[in-house]
Amino acid sequence: MMVKVAVIRCESYDDDKVREAVNRGLELIGGIKEFVSPGEKILLKPNLLAADVPEKCCTTHPSVFKAVAEAFLQVGVNLSYGDSPALHNPSAAAKKAGIADIAEKLGVETADFVNGEEIYFEEGIQNKKFFIAKGVLEADGLISLPKLKTHFLAKMTGSIKNQFGCVPGELKGEFHVRMPNINDFSMMLIDLNRLLKPRLYIMDGIMAMEGGGPRRGTPKKMNVLLLSKDPIALDAMVCKMVNLDPKYVPTVKLGKEVGFGTYLDEEIELVGDPFESFIDPAFVVKREPVKPFYQGGIVQFVRNALVPKPLIQSKKCLKCGECVRLCPVKPKALDWHSGNKTKVPNYKYSRCIRCYCCQEICPEGAISLKEPIVKNFFKGRKLAVLSSFTRKLRR
Ligand code: SF4
Ligand code: SF4
Repeated sequence: MMVKVAVIRCESYDDDKVREAVNRGLELIGGIKEFVSPGEKILLKPNLLAADVPEKCCTTHPSVFKAVAEAFLQVGVNLSYGDSPALHNPSAAAKKAGIADIAEKLGVETADFVNGEEIYFEEGIQNKKFFIAKGVLEADGLISLPKLKTHFLAKMTGSIKNQFGCVPGELKGEFHVRMPNINDFSMMLIDLNRLLKPRLYIMDGIMAMEGGGPRRGTPKKMNVLLLSKDPIALDAMVCKMVNLDPKYVPTVKLGKEVGFGTYLDEEIELVGDPFESFIDPAFVVKREPVKPFYQGGIVQFVRNALVPKPLIQSKKCLKCGECVRLCPVKPKALDWHSGNKTKVPNYKYSRCIRCYCCQEICPEGAISLKEPIVKNFFKGRKLAVLSSFTRKLRR
């Protein structure tokens, strides 16, 4: 059976234009009543990674949120919204992103993304237990509103990754510790989506983020909204748009393997505007396969010597401590010198699992990734032994 992905041109965040594009997309994938019924409690889940202004293109734009909320309110559902950012509390992030104001004006309730409950998921492949935000559990259905962005570990962050925000607060960090291998982590995200079963995904790609996403990248005009009930198909089309092999994005590859969706052209029906008109081969994204991370022993030691390490640029650091707070390993791989918070925090690289949460979260952009000396040394030298060894580590 073919799955529909609507690809809709929208060239600005003008409210009327976005509303028209959202409504057109909803019609093309079967009409809004295909997804909700009057009287149901429906949760909108935008991407609110951190308390950032819409111009940073890190969060779902308020105009997209507004147009979707208006469309769903018109069919008589009880609407709420929420997300649990990696950094900052949910209300601060929603306010800065311009979404709290819109929600208040439209009468969309704020869902509880601070408290939660442990849910056992028998069918989980990688993970059978999740702590889920109360606001998610109280809703009858979820509509996901991801943002089109790159991701330093997983290449692209999209429809599947957006539901990670349904796990409250810093509990998210624990998954990085338990699953440092990107494939395990991605399978956990698939499990989370299989548990939550969002009914529809509407991606904001009018202004996307290329390069160092999901928070430190560069805004990029892509002029597109994508809608689908198949997150794998939607994310795969985004990959094709930016000339990235969908199989190189672990959530897409694994999602297809476990039957959660498809990336095959012959199983996807594109509706809306000509897909070719959105293809942008110059979009900045890493196009080689991901490198899984293995923890422990000699393999971790060698890999640590070959992958970039996070480094604080002391001149930019304001010593706010957010990176220390968020580092998920215990004992921390990034901490204050003997508890002295007047100095720049320092790393213990032997403990660091290279999850790059610290870099993602630093509000000042003070943490960069430094290529290891050993890699620079070998750069350009054709050492068969080294390249075959690194290939083995990536498998
Ligand atoms: S590196 Fe960034 S997050 Fe860490 S203390 Fe400095 S400014 Fe804060
Ligand atoms: S120091 Fe940074 S990259 Fe290393 S484990 Fe902690 S948060 Fe992750």
